[in-house]
Amino acid sequence: MGPALGENAIGAVDDWRKILSDSVVSAGQLERSTGVPADVVQPVIDRYPMRINPYFLSLIRSPHDPIGRQAIPDPAELEEKRVSKDVYADDPFCEEDLSPVGSLVHRHPDRVLFLVSGFCAVYCRHCMRKRNAGRKQAVNIDAVRRAVDYISRAGQVREVILSGGDPLMLPDAFLEEILDRMAAIPHVKRLRIHTRIPGVLPARITQGLVEILGRFSPLFINIQFNHPAELTREAADACGMIADAGIVLGSQSVLLNGVNDDEDVLSQLMEKMLSLRVRPYYLHHPDPVRGTAHFGVSLERGVEIMGKLRAGLPGMAIPHYVVDLPGGQGKVSAEEVLRKGERGGL
Ligand SMILES: *Cc1c(COP(=O)(O)O)cnc(C)c1O
Ligand code: SF4
Repeated sequence: MGPALGENAIGAVDDWRKILSDSVVSAGQLERSTGVPADVVQPVIDRYPMRINPYFLSLIRSPHDPIGRQAIPDPAELEEKRVSKDVYADDPFCEEDLSPVGSLVHRHPDRVLFLVSGFCAVYCRHCMRKRNAGRKQAVNIDAVRRAVDYISRAGQVREVILSGGDPLMLPDAFLEEILDRMAAIPHVKRLRIHTRIPGVLPARITQGLVEILGRFSPLFINIQFNHPAELTREAADACGMIADAGIVLGSQSVLLNGVNDDEDVLSQLMEKMLSLRVRPYYLHHPDPVRGTAHFGVSLERGVEIMGKLRAGLPGMAIPHYVVDLPGGQGKVSAEEVLRKGERGGL
């Protein structure tokens, strides 16, 4: 018997779920697919979960290459290595203290972060919310109601930023419901989504999803791309679909030791993103989050790399190089921090 009517279309929509369900999540699976010994990885994933979906796995050439480093658990995650005393913490930016109601982070009066999902298509080893990734559930409708209540009463909020985890891991209908409710708040003028999906699970960017997102203009989507090898044909198609729907795309890359702490790599990344209509927005100095010290890069080196980018690229290709200072003060220019010497222990 041939496929039932509509089966192909449904199959296409659910492709990404199938890909996700085939992810490498156990030390044994990882050993079989990459040769990394299970006994080395097991203690790491006991503390910080692993998920490497088959698409992202296919980009890894060797465990220590720039893609492998971002996804394959490293025993260094368990070392209490401190660049300076007391800096590396689970939540160095005190997001939990800045949370007026569960899952909201309200640091800047005009913008609020809504952490809608604890799930991701890949658990990045360098994640700044390593404390939550893969642990916290997605928000439920009650949490959405509480967030809407809070934001409705916070008249100074102009922008709601969905973050996580990865917001695009939510089912289409629930994501639409959240966006609808946020957009209906009269003083909310813009919506934004922070995601890694176009670069780590491009099959999730379906026509159906893009049609939903396209209804919420002005909608900004900032994508985390860290290395030019992430900008595959599939990722390019995903970005093209989103851009064609009238959504403004930006990037949020993270400066990472052994991944992209190199002027040639970053310069390629910035130029390639521009050709995908993704405007470089932020280059984040690595955050002092517990379990990520092995990704550290010095401020001096970061500033040197930025100088070289500026010398060789158009202004459009230059991201803001920012540091999130511990203690909840927000993002500031890394160059400025280095110049003034107020490094907050970094
Ligand atoms: C980064 C961040 C934002 C968004 O900041 P932009 O500079 O507008 O991109 C909002 N809230 C919190 C808590 C943040 O960390
Ligand atoms: S996709 Fe984002 S939230 Fe998820 S693990 Fe990676 S950096 Fe963290």
